[in-house]
Amino acid sequence: MKALVLNCGSSSIKYQLLDMENESVVTKGLVERIGLNGSRLKYQVGDAQYVVEQDIAGHSAGIALVLDILCKGPHKVIKSLNEIDVVGHRVTHGGELFKETVKVDAEVIEGIKKCISIAPLHNPANLAGIETCMKLIPKTPQIAVFDTAFHQQMPQKAFMYGLPYDLYKKYGIRRYGFHGTSHRYVTERTAELMGKKAEDLKLVICHLGNGASVTAVKNGHSVDTSMGFTPLDGLIMGTRCGEIDPALVGFIMEHEDMTVKQVMRYLNGQSGVLGLSGISSDFRDVEDEAIKGDERAEMAIDAFAYQVEKFIGSYVMIMDGIDALVFTAGVGENSPYVRNKVCANLSHWGTKLDKERNEHGDKPRKISTDDSKVAIYIVPTNEELMIARECKRLLGK
Ligand code: ADP
Repeated sequence: MKALVLNCGSSSIKYQLLDMENESVVTKGLVERIGLNGSRLKYQVGDAQYVVEQDIAGHSAGIALVLDILCKGPHKVIKSLNEIDVVGHRVTHGGELFKETVKVDAEVIEGIKKCISIAPLHNPANLAGIETCMKLIPKTPQIAVFDTAFHQQMPQKAFMYGLPYDLYKKYGIRRYGFHGTSHRYVTERTAELMGKKAEDLKLVICHLGNGASVTAVKNGHSVDTSMGFTPLDGLIMGTRCGEIDPALVGFIMEHEDMTVKQVMRYLNGQSGVLGLSGISSDFRDVEDEAIKGDERAEMAIDAFAYQVEKFIGSYVMIMDGIDALVFTAGVGENSPYVRNKVCANLSHWGTKLDKERNEHGDKPRKISTDDSKVAIYIVPTNEELMIARECKRLLGK
């Protein structure tokens, strides 16, 4: 069974074709700068990388190009589009309408459209991907996998904000949480590594990338998570401010003479580690400068790591314990420096990071000491594989 996984952003399309007989990646690629100058498709077959530079006006043209490259020309990996058994779409926001993965039909499309009001930046692109595939390969089933679905079993006390209840009823204002597909994949993989069932575990998963979130997973379900109504909430991130005093939004608008749009762009794109360090949103660059002695760079990483610590602490409390602390995504998987800072104060629960294991070894791996009461793991995330597995499960193959 072959599954094409699509992740359509506002100006990009990431894709992978997976062979689900052995869960291998047949090919993967990225369409960049859709609708802009210099649009191109970069793709990989085996170890070889290729680039096609051409005008790509919209998502429709981008997906048409991807489908062409898959089955035509010198680097084709399938003989015809009929070999694609299913397309799995990453959909950012499913609101309260979608609590699990669904097969796309007219009703699902209407539902995703309804969620545009709460995810205006993401859902339109996801929808464009779905509608294009329905036109270009109408006989192939389309499956929607929502970033918010894994968090839909959060108890109400965890998802309500202290705002008038009417706003929840009128606009669906509440905490939704994101990175759900990643948190779910990492939950299942960690349980497998521990030789236990996810239903029997209490985990805190730190998905630390450009976007970052921490999730409390109890008995296989998310019971709380740091991102909120939008992905802006929670941790300090690459360019996002994370949680701030809400009164600051008005203060900044007034004092920096900004409109709503400008202040949202500022909080999403100019803040976080970039804004604090003044160096970069890329953690590697900031970390390099911190190690060389740049004080602002070190302060930015310290502030980031401190927040991760605070979320971990509060999630251990609300779950009444923890079996494993797990790091994933770009920073979580690759930065011993950040993990070391985050794990500086775990000894009161008898938890010890092993210095050598933190710094060296294959992934996934355990990085706590053998006598640590709580295990610490690095578990690489794989959202595409999770989406493809969901497609397989839903089609009953
Ligand atoms: P996203 O998917 O949110 O864009 P990723 O999960 O790909 O983010 O993570 C990207 C981040 O991971 C970048 O800030 C990058 O600097 C960081 N990163 C990757 N490798 C390392 C490393 N070895 N040390 C520190 N940070 C790293």
